[in-house]
Amino acid sequence: GSTVEVDPGVEVDEENAEDDLLGGLKVDSTADIEVPDRLVDQVIGQDEARDIIIKAAKQRRHVMMIGSPGTGKSMLAKAMSQLLPREDLQDVLVYHNPDDGNEPKVRTVPAGKGEQIIDAHKEEARKRNQMRSILMWVIIAIIIGYTLLSPTSILLGIIAAGIVWLIFRYTSRGTDAMVPNMIVNNGDQRTAPFEDATGAHAGALLGDVRHDPFQSGGMETPSHDRVEPGSIHQSNKGVLFVDEMNTLDVRTQQKLMTAIQEGEFAITGQSERSSGAMVQTEPVPCDFIMIAAGNLDAMENMHPALRSRIKGYGYEVYMDDTIEDTAEMRRKYARFIAQEVERDGRLPHFEREAVEELILEAKRRAGRKDHLTLLFRDLGGLVRVAGDIARSEDRERTTRDDVLQAKSRSRSIEQQLADDYIERRKDYELQVTDDGVEGRVNGLAVMGEDSGIMLPVMAEIAPAQGGGQVIATGQLKEMAEESVQNVSAIIKKFSDVDLSEKDIHIQFVQAGQQGVDGDSASITVATAVISALEDIPVDQSIAMTGSLSVRGDVLPVGGVTHKIEAAAKAGCTKVIIPEANEQDVMIEEEYEEMIEIIPCSNISEVLDVALEGEPKKDSLVDRLKSITGSAFEGGQGA
Ligand code: ADP
Repeated sequence: GSTVEVDPGVEVDEENAEDDLLGGLKVDSTADIEVPDRLVDQVIGQDEARDIIIKAAKQRRHVMMIGSPGTGKSMLAKAMSQLLPREDLQDVLVYHNPDDGNEPKVRTVPAGKGEQIIDAHKEEARKRNQMRSILMWVIIAIIIGYTLLSPTSILLGIIAAGIVWLIFRYTSRGTDAMVPNMIVNNGDQRTAPFEDATGAHAGALLGDVRHDPFQSGGMETPSHDRVEPGSIHQSNKGVLFVDEMNTLDVRTQQKLMTAIQEGEFAITGQSERSSGAMVQTEPVPCDFIMIAAGNLDAMENMHPALRSRIKGYGYEVYMDDTIEDTAEMRRKYARFIAQEVERDGRLPHFEREAVEELILEAKRRAGRKDHLTLLFRDLGGLVRVAGDIARSEDRERTTRDDVLQAKSRSRSIEQQLADDYIERRKDYELQVTDDGVEGRVNGLAVMGEDSGIMLPVMAEIAPAQGGGQVIATGQLKEMAEESVQNVSAIIKKFSDVDLSEKDIHIQFVQAGQQGVDGDSASITVATAVISALEDIPVDQSIAMTGSLSVRGDVLPVGGVTHKIEAAAKAGCTKVIIPEANEQDVMIEEEYEEMIEIIPCSNISEVLDVALEGEPKKDSLVDRLKSITGSAFEGGQGA
């Protein structure tokens, strides 16, 4: 369980909560929903990560968070900074070192004190400058007065005055050196600092000393004034967040580790040739809590010592991608929209129906039965686009229509590509035809993460040149070979044809596209091969997706919702999906009327639906039914 329980702050209709898309929330719009103040209470789902953050904040431990982008890693890191005590914060000042100009001194004072010290120094410098200029003008006045008395030496007098002026002007630099450089200023911080050092270069992370183009001759900037803090120093007593840890180069990771171990880290110029490289400050405190984030890949490529450091002195936590769809969760999703609207500050609040549509979308995007997606960054993007549409039309509330429009606008690159692809294919009449075709099946694939595409497969059988082989081209070759292997086990049992004497050519029509995942097309290939082998045409108004076992079972696949929508868009009127995927179907209303979904659990059922030409087909299906295994039962992949 979680330690913080969050109530959206409005009445809940408990009785009908389960059936209501808003989990029984009695609200007209998100304006009625209260948003918690603390960031940690705004986090939805990720109970484990949140508990760990709360615990780690108390114990001052480092945390490693692994998971998909947009699930709340940086949000949690920021939330942690709000949980750390403000009293510990410090200001850091860098002073000129009169003994060694290249080793500036470092002093740490309680937050807010730094400002006072700087002011005092400035005041003193100002006074001193004032005194000096008074002194200077007095001397100049005396010289001028003196020359006026003896007009013969006017020129000498002017020269003397000039020399005095120059001396004062140059020596005045010495007084600048008295004012320290405040590199960390926490005077106005209301919470412990949060620094996001994702993708930072060494200088930004570890601090730097600027190059001085005038290294001597009285024009130089004193070295302490050129010192710049890094994120590790600015996050002192707070949180340092580093996403994609593995993109930091190894040397920088090593230095970061030293910083963690020592709790302080001297600042020096990072570029070797610059005059800054000659300067090194005394150690500067960097007592931060590190939150390292990334995907699994990031973890593997992280400096092993750094990883074990975090592991040994902290926690590791995995972020969830989806969460169970419960009434309570839906209420929190409604609150999520309220949060995003308030954070943005300009969007109109969402009407009840608009919230419902977004929660439906969260269900769809989960791609998993009875779950909601936790990829909130994308969902937040949708909230903003929908809100922007409403705002641009000066509406007081964001409506369901705005959400629907936003969805079609904020399509991913892959979705746009897929649509473009369908458009272009229309030109070549590769679309659905009314006549059945032997050996040709409309397969379905997923492009990217969230867009389906229709991918016709053609099979042709020819006498083998040598031993029979499967001939396929492109990136889907392996998949094709595997599907043919699976189907050949079945074919052997019911057909006289010896596949070892045949070459099977498999062509994926227009599958040159990058990013097409054909892993789930094995029933498509099987159907095409059997159709070609037995000379039975395939109904072209049907599309299909599913994986095939050696026993003839149709196994579940991913992305069914997107695939079904793609089939409908391409003009198919029926679509075959694995029975085990039936519960994952969350197509949008507009497609429901366009296409009939036919769940199948066995290849014989697939062929029964997809093949044409009654007598031949019926006998084939009967033979198949008698030999293939029982229908796939079980909840795998659901
Ligand atoms: P990550 O660091 O995992 O890539 P972020 O924390 O930057 O993701 O999330 C981006 C935005 O999405 C956040 O600022 C917040 O508005 C929203 N968000 C992400 N995860 C959650 C969550 N679990 N609960 C509520 N909002 C979230």
